[in-house]
Amino acid sequence: MDFRETTEHRALRETVAAIAGRFGGGYYAERAQARQPCTELWQALGQGGYIGINIPEEYGGGGAGLLELTMVCEEVSTQGCPLLLLLVSSAISGELLARYGTDEQRKEWLPRLATGQSKVVFAITEPDAGSNTHRLSTTATRDGADYLLRGSKHYISGVDEAEAILVVTRTGTDETTGAARLSLFVVPTDAPGLVRTPLPVDVMLPERQFVLHFDDVRVGPGALVGIEGEGFAQVFHGLNPERITGAALCVGVARYALARAAEYATTREVWGVPVGSHQGVSHPLAQAKIETELAALMTTRAAWSHDAGLPAGEASNMAKYAAAEAALAAVDAAIQTHGGNGLATEYGLVPLWGLARLLRIAPVNREMILNYVAQHSLGLPRSY
Ligand SMILES: Cc1cc2nc3c(=O)[nH]c(=O)nc-3n(C[C@H](O)[C@H](O)[C@H](O)COP(=O)(O)OP(=O)(O)OC[C@H]3O[C@@H](n4cnc5c(N)ncnc54)[C@H](O)[C@@H]3O)c2cc1C
Repeated sequence: MDFRETTEHRALRETVAAIAGRFGGGYYAERAQARQPCTELWQALGQGGYIGINIPEEYGGGGAGLLELTMVCEEVSTQGCPLLLLLVSSAISGELLARYGTDEQRKEWLPRLATGQSKVVFAITEPDAGSNTHRLSTTATRDGADYLLRGSKHYISGVDEAEAILVVTRTGTDETTGAARLSLFVVPTDAPGLVRTPLPVDVMLPERQFVLHFDDVRVGPGALVGIEGEGFAQVFHGLNPERITGAALCVGVARYALARAAEYATTREVWGVPVGSHQGVSHPLAQAKIETELAALMTTRAAWSHDAGLPAGEASNMAKYAAAEAALAAVDAAIQTHGGNGLATEYGLVPLWGLARLLRIAPVNREMILNYVAQHSLGLPRSY
């Protein structure tokens, strides 16, 4: 076992950090406060080949794996720019289209995803189903060769920035278990019958959220991704990448917040010594640093396992849990370290707290992870 990163990986981290560093935390905070997308940064990363680093080379991507995408997420976030749509467009949609898409779908979407010209967002969450995917009620029913999509989704991020949405639908019900048979469709955001309404949230994010209504949205057979009725397994293949990149984003948020806090704590003096010399200030930061680096290790292991085709569910869940908790602890400690300045717009810490708080809930909430670990890692009875 060798924990040293390769020269290529170090170079990747340095280049991505240099690109994102040109924008920095001030840029992100400004966009988050204005609810405006970080388009320039996205494009700069796309031009460099980093948005699509995990997309196969034959479709214009970097031909690398989830491990490298995880590094990209970590580095942009460590520069203060945690781009939420990396989880959605690059990780989940990119991975699912590359793995299950038809050749036509891959040719149509992957090259533009890879360069950052286009985004494909992901819609699974429904008002009445919540964390229970088996209860999804957005249906896709056959109408001749076409499908008609009917139902609604909520909290879907980045629909206004995307060209298409990967939609999880119910195309049947398992007669023995009553669980939904799921199918995935790639649906253009301007499809007739698809109505989107902004869903305001109080956390400050550059990405906006939407409620989607599908009112008999007609799509051709070419919109089906993978095999009809096999969507559950397919979605699960995409959820680990989403959790792993979510964890990477949190690791970066934590590192950024801790760096800002350390800088402040060594320069701010109120009792004749830097505030960082008080253990009440330094210990929460040190504790968050330990938790962050532990989470980073598990994140790397999860990404590596996914790329190696090994089971990655446990590591992905643990990484996402640990990283979200570490990010929250780090940002909270950073805010406290800054005193009143911690809440000032100028220091840009509150938007990061909002993002970290979101990542305790999404893409999977902390309690569902604890359920997973209790059941699958410890062999305890299923609790729900
Ligand atoms: C800003 C934002 C962006 C989002 N972006 C997207 C997106 O792009 N695409 C998308 O599809 N979704 C998106 N989501 C939705 C997000 O993934 C869900 O909110 C999340 O998965 C939780 O589902 P829920 O809100 O329905 O919570 P519920 O399922 O209603 O659960 C509520 C709470 O109950 C607890 N709970 C639920 N079930 C159990 C259980 N079995 N055991 C113990 N506790 C339990 C948990 O604490 C949970 O937080 C986004 C949400 C937000 C807020």
